[in-house]
Amino acid sequence: MNPPQLQFPPGISLERQGQTYVIFRNKREEIGGVALTETPLGDTQLRPYLAAGKESDKTTVAFIAQQMSDVLLMHQAQKPAHLRREPYPPNNLPEGVKAFENKLLPCSRCGQFVAKLIFAEEVSSAVAMEDLAKKLELEAFVSAYPIWIIGAPDSENDDIAKHLTLQIAPIKGAVYWEHPDKMNQRLIELDDHHC
Ligand SMILES: [Zn+2]
Repeated sequence: MNPPQLQFPPGISLERQGQTYVIFRNKREEIGGVALTETPLGDTQLRPYLAAGKESDKTTVAFIAQQMSDVLLMHQAQKPAHLRREPYPPNNLPEGVKAFENKLLPCSRCGQFVAKLIFAEEVSSAVAMEDLAKKLELEAFVSAYPIWIIGAPDSENDDIAKHLTLQIAPIKGAVYWEHPDKMNQRLIELDDHHC
């Protein structure tokens, strides 16, 4: 991905450092950035972050990350269908690093994403779900589509198991239990009404 044409607020600049676009104020004060990660299938994902102690710059970082995300989504939607791939959970992470499985669901007509599910099966309490939501706050803040976290099931039996579920974008909801069939129905409806 090449540096896109972005609109910067006054005093804000962007500098590429390896796979990260670092966001600076006055050229030297790092306020955050956007890390680019490649999936094993060659797709790019954006992961915005805030530098320590820069809570008050959240909106600026989110604003830039949102623009980068828009550019990326347009780029992906323009790819011919046979080159479009669904992002896949990374399988080559360093030992001890746990990645949550992300599933991005593209619209069946235009290819833009209609929703994202983050699978975190080992998260087994409402408190832990809220903790994870907090970690993903910035990502949720810049998301152009709804995001749900799917946590642990309440049963070993998939037919009846409900999972801890928490919507974090476009607005954050409350933790509840839901069977995957209901989520699937919702995703079908989002696709039906997308464009
Ligand atoms: Zn669409």
